[in-house]
Amino acid sequence: MLTTLNEILGKAKREGYGVAAPDAYSSSSVMACFKAAENLKAPLIVSCLGTTNMEETGENVKFYARKYPDAVVTLHLDHGSSFEEIMRALRSGYTSVMIDRSKLPFEENVREVREVVRIAHAMGVSVEAELGHVGTGTEYDKTRDSGLTHKEEARRFVEETGVDALAVAVGTSHGVYKGTPKLEFELLKEIASLVTVPLVLHGGSGTGDENLKKCIACGIQKINLFTDMANPAGEAMALYMRGESSEEPDISAALEMFSGKKKNYYVAPMVGAEVYQRKLEHYIKLFGSAGKA
Ligand SMILES: [Zn+2]
Repeated sequence: MLTTLNEILGKAKREGYGVAAPDAYSSSSVMACFKAAENLKAPLIVSCLGTTNMEETGENVKFYARKYPDAVVTLHLDHGSSFEEIMRALRSGYTSVMIDRSKLPFEENVREVREVVRIAHAMGVSVEAELGHVGTGTEYDKTRDSGLTHKEEARRFVEETGVDALAVAVGTSHGVYKGTPKLEFELLKEIASLVTVPLVLHGGSGTGDENLKKCIACGIQKINLFTDMANPAGEAMALYMRGESSEEPDISAALEMFSGKKKNYYVAPMVGAEVYQRKLEHYIKLFGSAGKA
């Protein structure tokens, strides 16, 4: 069943757990998401960037939603950029969209987000926006401090825009971190006490299991993940095609599973999907959302 972000995160906030939001860009990665959701009876937010097969991924998600009717999944646009891109997502049947205007000054951010909220809500679609700015891991040392969310602005932003979920910058970063992630748990707790809507953490990959658990305890409900599934999945595909093994348990188990299969263009993505699913299941269990669908 496809549902809204509101539905999934509202329950998560009431019951105090986190929901994984994996980025998926291909049929095999969407399949991996649904198999993980089905296997663990967990709600899931399948996310896609507008620049990477948005319509195709949307159709894949709708296909697997019919194949796994018990899965509770949101089809979410990640980092919606132009107004046109967000409208395309709405037309493609996305049940949730993020509008990312986090690089704009506060008032402009509010104005553009409010416009999208009005349209999306009229169509029964949830909206996530970002305040403060979560940067890129390779520039972590330069961008971490300047991007942190201001707590009082967060309260105003939610009230003035009517967003359903707020992405905050509390020390995480996208992709692979340069250096060690340092999180602002006190700031997160303060924002959570001032803001009524569910909170979102971007840059979950590489942040560390203990840090992520603590973020959920401090008020995060949605955790975005990509690198921690995509990189090991890609590595597994390469090892499989070269006929090599891996020390890493999730990867070696996937290689073992496909060991008798002829190495070809079809099988390699299945190896990747197997690893993607295992990595995602690790996070679903860590976040406490297994059995919550
Ligand atoms: Zn992000």
